[in-house]
Amino acid sequence: MPLDRQQGVPFMSRRPAWLPPPRPPEGARATQRVVAPQRPSGPGLASDSARARMVESLRRVGVRDARVLDAMGQVPRHAFVDAALASRAYEDVALPIGHGQTISKPSTVARMIELVTQSLPESRRAAARVLEIGTGCGYQAAVLARVFGQVVSVERVRGLHEQARNNLRTMRIANLRLVFGDGHLGVARAAPFDAIVMAAAGEAVPDALLEQMSVGARLIAPIGTTRQALHLVERLDRERWQVAVLDAVRFVPLRTGTS
Ligand code: SAH
Repeated sequence: MPLDRQQGVPFMSRRPAWLPPPRPPEGARATQRVVAPQRPSGPGLASDSARARMVESLRRVGVRDARVLDAMGQVPRHAFVDAALASRAYEDVALPIGHGQTISKPSTVARMIELVTQSLPESRRAAARVLEIGTGCGYQAAVLARVFGQVVSVERVRGLHEQARNNLRTMRIANLRLVFGDGHLGVARAAPFDAIVMAAAGEAVPDALLEQMSVGARLIAPIGTTRQALHLVERLDRERWQVAVLDAVRFVPLRTGTS
């Protein structure tokens, strides 16, 4: 169903053919939580094995894309949260990152990235550009930088923008650019994007973001206020966008302006 921007985002009654199969039922996932071990075996080792177990549980909940799984296995999630929460970094839970915001749970990060990459042939990924709205602590941006050629990530809270910069400094990720600003506007000077990932929930997909998608690009966004669902948008041509409504989710709200 084409998306008419004047009418907002319509609900699709049928799953389009390009969507992956539905996820396993919630109960199947509930048994697959990973708890990070607290072993006195050196700083790197416990987190390496906890992260490997997290990747196994991502596989079990249906994440298939090898590059996404590899990226999730490489990026040290514990380095993006407060030291007091580091032991929970590889559980499939959202964690507080300050300023009233949260880092999304790993299964949500992996699923969103997998959904936007699926339209891109392997050969185009190295050159592909992705825009993230809501840098937060920078974790998802670091994962995106291992999957896409170029990443631009926008954050509206100055304190978080700087926190992400600090978290990412030692990782020296050359293909990631952090921008301070209101993500409603996208980043026109770096557009068009082959994929857009929104990490905060608005009432609709901002027009500027639809315009900054290249033809064939995908955008994934939580949409809604009290009830939210992931929306997957694909740009069909210059004038038409197709949207599918997927899983119910819970994200922090997309806010206007900067602070
Ligand atoms: N991807 C992040 C998740 C952060 S939570 C991570 O890996 O940590 C969502 C983030 O979106 C918050 O940091 C919030 O401040 C930010 N946000 C909300 N509205 C925004 C907007 N209009 N523009 C940019 N960022 C926004």
